[in-house]
Amino acid sequence: MTCRVRFAPSPTGHLHIGGARTALYNWLLARKLGGKFILRVEDTDTERSTQEYVDSIMDGMRWLGLLWDEGPYHQMERMDIYRAHVDQLMREGNAYRCYCTVEELTAKREAAQKAGQKPKYDGTCRDLNLQDDSRPYVIRFKAPTKGTTVVHDAIRGDIPFENKELDDLIIMRGNNTPTYNFTVVVDDVTMKITHVIRGDDHLNNTPRQILMYNAFNYPVPTFAHLPMILGSDKKKLSKRHAATSVVAYRDLGYLPEALLNYLARLGWSHGDQEIFSLMDMIEAFDLEHVGKSAAIFDPDKLNWVNQQHIKKLGDAELTHMCVPFFQKEGVAWDNQEFAIAAVRSERERAKTLADIAKQCRFYFVDQVEYDPASVEKWLTADGKALLQKIHDRMTQVEPFTAEAIGAAFKELVTESGLKMVSLAQPCRVALCGCTVSPGVYEVMAILGKEKTLKRLTAAINKS
Ligand code: GLU
Repeated sequence: MTCRVRFAPSPTGHLHIGGARTALYNWLLARKLGGKFILRVEDTDTERSTQEYVDSIMDGMRWLGLLWDEGPYHQMERMDIYRAHVDQLMREGNAYRCYCTVEELTAKREAAQKAGQKPKYDGTCRDLNLQDDSRPYVIRFKAPTKGTTVVHDAIRGDIPFENKELDDLIIMRGNNTPTYNFTVVVDDVTMKITHVIRGDDHLNNTPRQILMYNAFNYPVPTFAHLPMILGSDKKKLSKRHAATSVVAYRDLGYLPEALLNYLARLGWSHGDQEIFSLMDMIEAFDLEHVGKSAAIFDPDKLNWVNQQHIKKLGDAELTHMCVPFFQKEGVAWDNQEFAIAAVRSERERAKTLADIAKQCRFYFVDQVEYDPASVEKWLTADGKALLQKIHDRMTQVEPFTAEAIGAAFKELVTESGLKMVSLAQPCRVALCGCTVSPGVYEVMAILGKEKTLKRLTAAINKS
């Protein structure tokens, strides 16, 4: 059977890190096995689902490149299909009408709790076969009362559940709307799903769902329940730990491939390998090497992975990818060579595309934005006198290359008896506004002679 997997988000929030990892593992398996990746929007919680979240989830998936082969299917558009499947279960004796009132059920539940028993539907209507249309009713699934249902999980192994512990679940409410566990199964059956990869918060639903696959005579899919992602304090990952939505990482300047790489490794391993291209991931991915224990989200490691992926890009490509971040900095250019050289000089130090744009900003401004502390320390009377000497020497350097500039600086060091740092730091402040920057010769060469001299003069004359 061809592999068919689905990602089934509920559109009650943006695509978050956990959801993206679930989507990725499904997508990887489909790509690896030559199968289909289906997007299903589980929007039956009409109070909390919004179109905005549907759009945002799809935006996040598109940005990551997790494109779906089928869908999006929307559960709210499939009500007729669910009703037809309820009818089928009724016809075949696998479901029944239950006329117990809310008051009766509450009383029974309270009595069970008092007696120290697990509250569970007592089966009053199970075998009565009632068909009274004049009174309100719900439809329940007729679950076996004996035996064991075993969840065969690709990650956790076999997990047995006693059928007598499982309830006769309501599958259709009194207002004619189907319930969650039922719609999932009908969708998986009609969409011919072969593998269900989802968060392990769904594990307790799985035995009930297996009973329903059985009732539909559908081969039970392979299950893989993924352990949760936690923050550094071992609590559920939340905004307190890090940005949690995928689009936030896009806006912070992470590369989609880097985020996918990080998420792939968050709970799955392939020997010691840390850095994966998409093709590597597709080739290497398997459910067998997904870990059983919860994964800890580590923002520093994500930064490192992002840096490794930034390193793989050529200068021109990287510059192009930084354009939206330059725009945020208010920086535009007409000289592409200049922009590429600027990016080349800053790329090693940067963790994100946003870092690159921020760090490169000084190259493009008309007037240097000075950091007050650096000014106080280095643009002193002595510092300015040094800058004047440097300025005068630089006028003579030709061609104005990093090499020639470096040679001129070395001469100045020898002549003045000062350390290189005493010359370089005031220069950095004059050129960049602060003391953190790429090498001074490189910065000067990129800026060119004219701008360099102008910035040195401006610093000398700064009040
Ligand atoms: N809609 C469910 C969720 O967002 C997914 C259910 C499933 O994958 O079976 O958690």
